[in-house]
Amino acid sequence: MDGLGLLFHAVVAIGANHRDIANKSGTLRMTSSDPFAFDLDGDKLREECGVFGVIGATDAAAACALGLHALQHRGQEAVGITSFDGTEFFTRRGLGHVADNFSTGESIAELPGTMAAGHVRYSTTGGAGLRNVQPLYADLASGGFAVAHNGNISNAMALRQELVQNGAIFQSTSDTEVIIHLVATSRFPTLLDKFVDALRMVEGAYSLVVMTPRGMLACRDPLGIRPLVMGRLGDATIFASETVALDVVGAEFVRQIDPGELVEVELDGKITSHHPFGNHKPRPCIFEHVYFSRPDSVFNGRSVYGSRRNIGMELAKESPCDADLVVPVPDSGVPAAIGYSQESGIPFELGIIRSHYVGRTFIQPSDGARNAGVKRKHNANRALVEGKRIVLIDDSIVRGTTSLKIVQMMRDAGAREVHFRVASPPTGNGCYYGVDTPERSKLLAGRMNIAAMREFIQADSLAFVSIDGLYRAVGLDGRNNACPQYCDACFTGEYPTALTDLSTREKEEAQLTFPVGKVA
Ligand code: SF4
Repeated sequence: MDGLGLLFHAVVAIGANHRDIANKSGTLRMTSSDPFAFDLDGDKLREECGVFGVIGATDAAAACALGLHALQHRGQEAVGITSFDGTEFFTRRGLGHVADNFSTGESIAELPGTMAAGHVRYSTTGGAGLRNVQPLYADLASGGFAVAHNGNISNAMALRQELVQNGAIFQSTSDTEVIIHLVATSRFPTLLDKFVDALRMVEGAYSLVVMTPRGMLACRDPLGIRPLVMGRLGDATIFASETVALDVVGAEFVRQIDPGELVEVELDGKITSHHPFGNHKPRPCIFEHVYFSRPDSVFNGRSVYGSRRNIGMELAKESPCDADLVVPVPDSGVPAAIGYSQESGIPFELGIIRSHYVGRTFIQPSDGARNAGVKRKHNANRALVEGKRIVLIDDSIVRGTTSLKIVQMMRDAGAREVHFRVASPPTGNGCYYGVDTPERSKLLAGRMNIAAMREFIQADSLAFVSIDGLYRAVGLDGRNNACPQYCDACFTGEYPTALTDLSTREKEEAQLTFPVGKVA
């Protein structure tokens, strides 16, 4: 079948077994005029997606909406749910949060059936818009095919070019659509074989939840870079990016999907596990422990909260500090600050207070804009910090602009000394696996050594946890340099897959190294 045989929901409106309901009322929150856009959360790496799938539940769409709500931190730009009632597929998609689009009984009633898959999304400015909102849907020769994807295909541009040359017509700019075209054009006889055939051609990171008229497929890339777990709720099987989504819908955690595993759940509930990609050493994203996952999730067999507290303890051992108070940068620095305090014996105190009445917003495009207005969301607890020597704990430094602001905020509140400790190694490289990262020249650790970074953020001292300290914090003896146990490329520059779509210059830049784990 050639690419022209693939018709998308945007094209097939009449006579197809799919109804697409775009919620035009949802608001895209990434606007330069957003008055609350500048806060400490702005200078973070951004996980781009979360996925959720449920099969065998009477209220599948409602469970899906609830699960996506628990995954909202993985993407706040847009949300979509597709359901299947045994005959037809129904999709509702919109810009904004889950609650903006799926809070009413009517919105859920538009999605009948016992099987549903959903997606929350964050993307860079160029990728915004309804046409990229997932699940993506296509009518294939074998029937409907809806896919929700967390991750990034690092050879998507090359594959897309080839597909277009062969006549494929793309309806979105999403890398996920490449998978659909590859499935559509595969010569293998069964849909399962076509799907495996397609995935053998892609490189990069993918955790996928797919719906077909026969049931649900859930799959993780051979290295397991992005997370995916399976749960059980009565007779229903659930797949989700994080265990917290299982907790929230009342499901029991069964297990994580193995790297390279493809789980097939048929409409009658029969579950089959396939391992079509051979044996690979897993390389899950270590940044899930540091920041992306919710602290109440379990990732790669470990409590995320526990890992973050351990990182703080490692940091205290590696980079002690003579100080009066340990102060977290809220909220993501809290578990590591608790660990630092427990290990060092220095009291933990909330020296920065977060307002919970400011809307959650997105990264702004210019550093100048980012530098303004930090106090809208966070304010120093002056009575506590005045005259004190403070150890500030944050999970990471990306551009460094908000770190500078927060150090300044402590000094303005009367802190005598401000020592900055970071619960991850310096983030000096971009991520090509589904995380929005600024270009290397915008990453503070991409252009400065630790002494220069300290000077930039104007702290009295600055230290990052070492890469081995990070590995110890997640229960290992340290990093196995010959065969690393995690993907840690944003720290080390060692990417676990080919990066076909990158130019040679970008590849050279990505391999640059930088010092880690020293106090400046
Ligand atoms: Fe995670 Fe960093 Fe690897 Fe991206 S490069 S998958 S953020 S560890």
